[in-house]
Amino acid sequence: MMHFENTLAFAQQLDQKDSLKQFRERFCFPTFHEKEIRYFTGNSLGLQPKTVKNYILEELDAWAEYGVEGHFLAKRPWFAYHENLTEMAAKVVGAKSIEVVVTHSLTTNLHLLMVSFYQPKGKRTKILCEAKAFPSDQYALESQVKFHGLDPAEHLIEIAPRTGEQLIHEEDILAAIETHADEIALIMIGGVNYYTGQLFDMEKITKAGHKIGAVVGFDLAHAAGNINLKLHDWGVDFAAWCGYKYLNSSPGGVSGMFVHERHAYKPELPRFAGWWGYDKETRFLMQPGFNPMKGAEGWQLSNAPVLGMAAHLASLEIFEEAGMDRIGQKRDLMTAYMEFVIDSISKQNSERVQFEIITPRDKTKRGAQLSIMAKGQGKALFDALSAEGVVADWREPNVIRIAPAPLYNSFEDCYWFGQLLEKAIQ
Ligand SMILES: *Cc1c(COP(=O)(O)O)cnc(C)c1O
Repeated sequence: MMHFENTLAFAQQLDQKDSLKQFRERFCFPTFHEKEIRYFTGNSLGLQPKTVKNYILEELDAWAEYGVEGHFLAKRPWFAYHENLTEMAAKVVGAKSIEVVVTHSLTTNLHLLMVSFYQPKGKRTKILCEAKAFPSDQYALESQVKFHGLDPAEHLIEIAPRTGEQLIHEEDILAAIETHADEIALIMIGGVNYYTGQLFDMEKITKAGHKIGAVVGFDLAHAAGNINLKLHDWGVDFAAWCGYKYLNSSPGGVSGMFVHERHAYKPELPRFAGWWGYDKETRFLMQPGFNPMKGAEGWQLSNAPVLGMAAHLASLEIFEEAGMDRIGQKRDLMTAYMEFVIDSISKQNSERVQFEIITPRDKTKRGAQLSIMAKGQGKALFDALSAEGVVADWREPNVIRIAPAPLYNSFEDCYWFGQLLEKAIQ
């Protein structure tokens, strides 16, 4: 491991050497606080790229100028607006263009994909998932099971951390897949757990799932734009993610869907259909009977929500320029530095507080997020941090989640987080 120092000079040195450092100034940093904001919630809502405003204004102007004809006359015709996003989004998640579409919102897309890929039949009726998944995913999974007339208590297999532990052992997931080999219809897991920041080996889980004849999908809300994904090569059947966390594409912004190429040419797959999923060449003949587009585009229901997509376009261009390889390298270094800073502060103040980083220490098992458990301190510590201008995330009973985002956070931010944490302890 690299030698680190918890000093301002050292953090500034790391910033000097950072090949992504010029990207920071392309984002709007919040100004609502009297203190300088230290923003660490890119895992919740990414900051606004400065180009977003113009991209949205262009569409507002096109609407004003053309009215409905903007569908064809706008600089980027609305009729096919989502096509501007596909290739760049596909690169971010390691997919082919035919496997990706951007539209709707995340939970909607999870449902649409499960309608197609959760098909309980005979003895194979169960969904394997992680315990304490993000609440929306829990509700989605439960309601999908009930939708098929089944009982969630019996048909959801939840893999939990072992007693007294925070993280899930990957071997427990693999063992459960073996144990329930002929009962599992679908494996659906968050690629990165939102609470602990634990990254799962999606390739290994996919292979294990396919070996027993199950379908495998992932919620990538905390992985897209954060982890170096290879969805196509890993053979994942389907995935969905939101655009507003690490992807910085506006609150409630558009979501991405991945459907593996092997499912691209199956019009017979059950699905909830809408006109925008209909074959583009003959869509406006408005004929009865649904003829889906090939690939992920066949899961679209509605015409493109252009304003949200304009924000996503501006943001994806930044990802295109920076590249996920460089983003991943900085993510690993900066997260390791943040970890070092927290450990240093923790050691120096051990008589007052015990910090335990519950996120895996192994960089191959996490992304940009660190979840810190503050033993012996509660919400007061978090409130004191907030009063100093730190924007982080609090989860009951005592976890602070922070995510230094490689595109706009600096090593100096991490240093100051440590200083402000120390001040808050005292
Ligand atoms: C953020 C997040 C969501 C949010 O879903 P929306 O439909 O965008 O509100 C869902 N699942 C996970 C795992 C998340 O992290």
